[in-house]
Amino acid sequence: MNVKALKGFKDILPDETPVWRRIEAVAREVFARFGFEEIRVPVVEKTELFVRSIGEATDIVEKEMYTFADRNGVSVTLRPEGTAPVLRAFVEHGLHVRKPVQRLYTIGPMFRYERPQKGRLRQFHQVSAEVLGGAAPFLDAEVMAAAWSILEELGVDVSLEINSLGCAACRPAFRQELVAFLQQRLAALCPDCQRRTATNPLRVLDCKNEACRRQLAGAPSILDALCSGCRSHFHAVRQGLDLLHIPYRENPFMVRGLDYYCRTTFELVTDALGAQSAVGAGGRYDGLLARLGGPDLPGIGFGMGLERLTLLCGGQEASGRDCDLFVAALGDRARSFAFALVHRLRRSGLRALMDTEGKGLKSQMKQAARASAAWTLIVGDNEMEEGEAVLRDMRHGEQAALPLTFDDPLAAAAAVVQRLGVAAEA
Ligand code: ATP
Ligand code: MG
Repeated sequence: MNVKALKGFKDILPDETPVWRRIEAVAREVFARFGFEEIRVPVVEKTELFVRSIGEATDIVEKEMYTFADRNGVSVTLRPEGTAPVLRAFVEHGLHVRKPVQRLYTIGPMFRYERPQKGRLRQFHQVSAEVLGGAAPFLDAEVMAAAWSILEELGVDVSLEINSLGCAACRPAFRQELVAFLQQRLAALCPDCQRRTATNPLRVLDCKNEACRRQLAGAPSILDALCSGCRSHFHAVRQGLDLLHIPYRENPFMVRGLDYYCRTTFELVTDALGAQSAVGAGGRYDGLLARLGGPDLPGIGFGMGLERLTLLCGGQEASGRDCDLFVAALGDRARSFAFALVHRLRRSGLRALMDTEGKGLKSQMKQAARASAAWTLIVGDNEMEEGEAVLRDMRHGEQAALPLTFDDPLAAAAAVVQRLGVAAEA
């Protein structure tokens, strides 16, 4: 039997995990500096949570969700994004009483049934951030600044595109104007967009299909249709970004694929990943918390795809030293001593390894080199008789005798640590 992983589900192998750890560490560090707290939520939720929040007429809900009935017939879904579960938890635990504005982030896998390709998987990972309780436009700029800082500190070059989708006061009129425009060109649009013209016309604006793009050249801009509230909000968001010296481009065609956005939306895009140009995206979703049964607090957030980030950071990771000290043991007594010594060394903070398979000296030295050990301690039954082992500096190829108390691994470990400490300073 040779069972393989599911299509679109990827193993992250030992050579790849260092870059993942670095990205996650940078994200956590930046979030901490921006006052975010971590929240962890389940990967499976009731299907209705996503349908209600993301919206029926969206790509995710229409065709991308991993939805199935559990053994009790309850329809459940593997989370396709992070906002809905975090908001569900926020409401369920009454987190709004903790402080007026809460900044939350979570890191973990998301699931979408898509056609797998470079930078597009069925299980992928996101860092996702949600700020609840603040409506000020500077907050939008600050949230973008957090995303921007993560990318900047990772050394990833992206551009920020921003837009406003208006609100319940101004979007309906724009929608009508857009539908009228689209209906005149309906025959030239792709089948998806013909359907979207009726169900979710704004989505037509960011269709990737070339024919649709050509048709959209003279489409009305939502930025011209904003009400005065949305207009001044968007103006202040741009002011905020200017104050932080974060460069951006206005893109009135950028419409996020989720229904819940209002006013500010943004995307962090790169041209280094072909069709998978978005590294991160987000926006304001005032009203969503109330829609999920919570208090009517405004919210804004973003999600950033870690696979795409690893592709952009790829190869940057210097492979770390796996091992400080390799203990090469020759003979049964020496092996028993080494076994206890390695354990003690590990407990005093050293990355220590030994051969467990009773190999010869040559093979053990090879193992030490492969682990890029800084030091090797050679212990043989003969050396033990004489009360000393041989310590070899693997980087300089020098070696010297090291007296050790072989009947006391604890003391021997202390002597090794002291010697390495002294040598490291020299
Ligand atoms: P796309 O237009 O590429 O499908 P999206 O608009 O569906 O992206 P969002 O829902 O905004 O993506 O998710 C935020 C980020 O998560 C994206 O910018 C991307 O980096 C990442 N992402 C989304 N879907 C996938 C996927 N299937 N595989 C890998 N990363 C993904
Ligand atoms: Mg998508």
